[in-house]
Amino acid sequence: MERNSSSSSTSEDSGNSTAFQRWLKKAAVLTGIGITPEERQRGYEDQQHVRCEKWKTELMSYSPSVVFMLKHLRLSGCTVPHGNIICAPCDLTRSGGFHPAGGIVLCQNHLSSKRQMEDTLTHELVHMHDHCKFNVDWHNLRHHACSEIRANSLSGDCRYMRELGRGHVSFTKQHQTCVRRRAILSVRANPSCPDEATAARAVNEVWESCFNDTRPFDEVRLSVVARTCSHGG
Ligand SMILES: [Zn+2]
Repeated sequence: MERNSSSSSTSEDSGNSTAFQRWLKKAAVLTGIGITPEERQRGYEDQQHVRCEKWKTELMSYSPSVVFMLKHLRLSGCTVPHGNIICAPCDLTRSGGFHPAGGIVLCQNHLSSKRQMEDTLTHELVHMHDHCKFNVDWHNLRHHACSEIRANSLSGDCRYMRELGRGHVSFTKQHQTCVRRRAILSVRANPSCPDEATAARAVNEVWESCFNDTRPFDEVRLSVVARTCSHGG
């Protein structure tokens, strides 16, 4: 049984000191007492990292959308190894990122739920799919816009899965507004994009064809995802 032993064990019990020191550190991180700000920050990062890795492993095994995307990447000759999906702290307010060389970053300090990580990971895997299947030039704003429209629409970012879970296969107006807004924000962050108007123009120019391109989530798959993806909330 765990008891409040902090006062009695510190000076006497040195046999168990390593485990106790670990416990003490953990408690200190939670309470913030007796540690430097740097130690506290490092403690948080360690906890976030462990949680991120745990969620990542679970999602790669059990999430319908993540497993589906990984499978299609594999079938397209672009297998994504476990180690290429990295949990790391990010400076910006984003939740994830994709590198054309074949890596995905999950921002462990900005992902507060497994559900959010599922959306983020699916989003980045759609980018990876596009990069693998199509000849994407990420400096070309129309190319980037197209992949952002698809990634935001097909991941849970705009509640695509939730709509499917309710049996709605058609996209709602709200969904489209959300996808458009998020795509413009991402294109705006492209170093090749001078201003928001340019980002909006790029998104509008490719909207029709890219929004309606639901590969690899094709029509047959829609009903399967709707059935297997039963988690609500
Ligand atoms: Zn994106």
